[in-house]
Amino acid sequence: MSALDDRLRWVLRPELALLAAYHVPPAVGMVKLDAMENPYTWPPAMIDEWLGCLREAALNRYPDPGADAVREALRVTADVPAEADILLGNGSDELIQLILMAVAGRDAVIMAPEPTFVMYRQLAEGLGLRFVGVPLRLDDFSLDMPAMREAVAQHAPAVIFLAYPNNPTGNLYAAEEIEELLALAPGLVVVDEAYLPFAGTTFLPRVGAHDGLLVMRTLSKLGLAGLRLGYLVGAPAWIREFDKLRLPYNINILTQISAEFALSKPHVFAAQVERILAERERLYRALTELSAVRAFPSSANFILFELLSQDARAVFESLKTQGVLVKAFAAGSGPLRRCLRVTVGKPDENDRFLAALAVALDP
Ligand SMILES: *Cc1c(COP(=O)(O)O)cnc(C)c1O
Repeated sequence: MSALDDRLRWVLRPELALLAAYHVPPAVGMVKLDAMENPYTWPPAMIDEWLGCLREAALNRYPDPGADAVREALRVTADVPAEADILLGNGSDELIQLILMAVAGRDAVIMAPEPTFVMYRQLAEGLGLRFVGVPLRLDDFSLDMPAMREAVAQHAPAVIFLAYPNNPTGNLYAAEEIEELLALAPGLVVVDEAYLPFAGTTFLPRVGAHDGLLVMRTLSKLGLAGLRLGYLVGAPAWIREFDKLRLPYNINILTQISAEFALSKPHVFAAQVERILAERERLYRALTELSAVRAFPSSANFILFELLSQDARAVFESLKTQGVLVKAFAAGSGPLRRCLRVTVGKPDENDRFLAALAVALDP
C-alpha cells in the first residue's frame, strides 16, 4: 500500500472501491445499435431554422437558471397536470441522482425490479444507499408481485424505480400492479417513462392522485440524446425539495434553445417515431422467424432476444467483427447472460444487423 492508497482510502467513501465507472464502448464506423438512439436526423431546412435560433444565444451570460421557457413548453406539449411541478435534469440520469441525493445520508433502501436500467443501482450504491433488486419473472419479465409485496413489506423502500417500459427487457408492467405498488409503497414510486414515445401509455395523469408518484421522462430516446434533457413531474412539495440540490445552471443555454425549438416541431418527431415503430415490427418478425433465437415483444425502440443454442458473447463478438454494435450483458449467472439487445435503426441498418446475425448464427 502506497501513501497515496492510504490517502485515497482515508478520503473516499468505501463503496467507491466496489463500483466501476459507466462504460461506453467505442462505436466509430460501426452500425450503432447499442444505445437506443433515434437514427434519424433533421431535414436541412429545419437545421437551418435551428441554427438561426442558436445565433441568438448569449454564450457570455449564464442561462436562465429555471429554464422557464423549456418547462412551459413541456407543460403544454406533455399535458402536465396543472397541480404538478416540473424539474429539469441534465438527462434523466441527473434526476435519478437528485432524488437519491435527497434520500442519501439516512439508512434507507432503494428498490427496483431487476434486470432493469443499471443507473438506479449504480447511483444508489455510489451514494452509499442500500439497493435491493427484486427479480422479475424470467419467463416474460413481468413483475413477481408476491416477491414485490414481500420486499416492500420487509424493506420499506424510500424509493422504488419502475422503468415503464423496462430497459433492457422492453415490456410494460401491468398498470394494475403498478397501482398496487403505489398503494403499498411507504415512500416514492418513480415511474421512468424514458420510452414513452414508443409505448404510448403513461402514468402522468395519475400524479395528482398519489402522494408518492413521480413520473420521469427524457428527450433522449425521442431523438435528442445529445442535448441531455430529462424532466421529472410530481407534487410541488417533492419538486421544491429536489430543486434545493439541483445545480443552479444545470441546463445549458444551447440545450434550452434547442429543446424549445424541437418541442415546437412535434410532427417531425412523430413521423420519425412512426418509422421506428414500423421497423420494430419488421425486425421483431424477422427475429421470431429464426429458430436459434427467441425475441421478446417490445414496447420500446429496442428488442431483447435470447440465443437458444449459441453463446451470446460469441454472437456479440461476431456481430462486432462484422461492424454491428449491439448490447451484451454480464456473463456468468446473470439472468440475461444468453441475451442481446438491439436498438431499432434505419431499415438499411436493421438489414445489416439481420445479415450479420445470420452469419453469426451459422458461420
Ligand atoms: C436511457 C434511459 C434513461 C436515461 O436517459 P437520459 O435522459 O439520457 O439520461 C433513463 N431511464 C431509462 C429506463 C433509460 O433506458
